[in-house]
Amino acid sequence: MFSHSNPALADCDVLLIGTVGMSAALEVFLKELQPELNIDIYERLDRLAAESFNARNNAGTGHSALGELNYTPQREDGSIDISKALKIIESFEVSKQIGSYLVADGYFSSPNSFINSIPHMSFVWGNEGVAFLRKRHEARQSSHLFQIMEYSEQFKTLASWIPPVMQHRDRSQKAATTHMALGTDVNFGDLTRCLFNHLKERHEIEVFLNYEVRSLEQDEEKRWIVRVKDEANDDTKGVSAKFVFMGAGGGALRLLEKSDIKQGDGYSGFPVSGQWLVCKKEALIAQHHAKVYGKTKVSAPSMDALREFIPDAQADDWKLSIAEQRVQVIKKDEEEGDVREFGTEVFGPPPALPRWLPSCLNSCKSVLRTK
Ligand SMILES: Cc1cc2nc3c(=O)[nH]c(=O)nc-3n(C[C@H](O)[C@H](O)[C@H](O)COP(=O)(O)OP(=O)(O)OC[C@H]3O[C@@H](n4cnc5c(N)ncnc54)[C@H](O)[C@@H]3O)c2cc1C
Repeated sequence: MFSHSNPALADCDVLLIGTVGMSAALEVFLKELQPELNIDIYERLDRLAAESFNARNNAGTGHSALGELNYTPQREDGSIDISKALKIIESFEVSKQIGSYLVADGYFSSPNSFINSIPHMSFVWGNEGVAFLRKRHEARQSSHLFQIMEYSEQFKTLASWIPPVMQHRDRSQKAATTHMALGTDVNFGDLTRCLFNHLKERHEIEVFLNYEVRSLEQDEEKRWIVRVKDEANDDTKGVSAKFVFMGAGGGALRLLEKSDIKQGDGYSGFPVSGQWLVCKKEALIAQHHAKVYGKTKVSAPSMDALREFIPDAQADDWKLSIAEQRVQVIKKDEEEGDVREFGTEVFGPPPALPRWLPSCLNSCKSVLRTK
């Protein structure tokens, strides 16, 4: 049961902090491989996966690197570096395979409850943008993972892929897109809740909601002594665990500091939120079936920025929605100084969203090897 009652204070093998997808996936793998493991999960909120993981709080792309332009930077010599995009798409494909296994194993009644197909596209305009996208497409053709990606500068083709983006657009303006038919839209919140619900049924796990982890330190036997605060009763208790996994988003930084483990050195973070302009006009929604990535001159999501994509966007057809905050990790790099990281960082022996699945396998290996 998901419980608000007092946690059993007996030792546990693995203690997970935070109900994000990575905690759920790690627990699935551990329980599948070693069902007798005793795993406790503590979540400071009164519900599961409600922060950045909730559907409205992220773009649901899982950073698959099919459309995001910032994953293929241009080098000083003008060539395109595709190494980051390759690493990301490889992890994403492994995640999809793990997802297929979980569907076959009965974790989900239907995969469509959390993953659906939608083309991912990059859209650029102007000579510079078009030259960049063309080069980027050519560079990515060297990998079989991108070979089915299509590229076009033809107005007619673009209008068939993204009608609202091309309607009322100046035909003399150069524009280009890449089009990847096998893009996906993932509801990470539902995915995570499904995993926890299934764990509850299959392994009778307990998730302690409304419990905030306040501190952790290692005792002489190298076990973690974790202090948790029961928010409902204002009571603080200790739990002893052999392994601790922090899937606590920005909250992990403070806990890492307290844990004193050296892998946590050199990290900091700053809060980043997001705003969406959500379309209310059914006729317009029905015309659009793609995730379109691009670069805007002004900071999104003002109507001006939107009109760079949808030239005749009318303010009355859209409403502003605020996304949850995430903590953008800043990492020390010996050559580049402080670097912003966009993926999920995994500290210790064991990347944004489903890239956490392959990372989980590594975390899982280290727990089972030491156990
Ligand atoms: C606007 C926006 C757009 C994004 N778009 C994308 C995208 O397109 N693709 C992508 O891959 N990623 C995207 N992300 C990022 C992605 O959503 C997050 O990387 C992912 O959800 C992981 O979240 P997190 O690590 O920040 O953890 P969070 O979602 O913040 O979850 C941490 C959990 O730990 C709990 N917690 C924290 N501290 C404690 C504590 N001390 N004790 C107990 N529990 C605790 C919290 O209550 C929470 O449930 C986006 C994020 C935002 C905000």
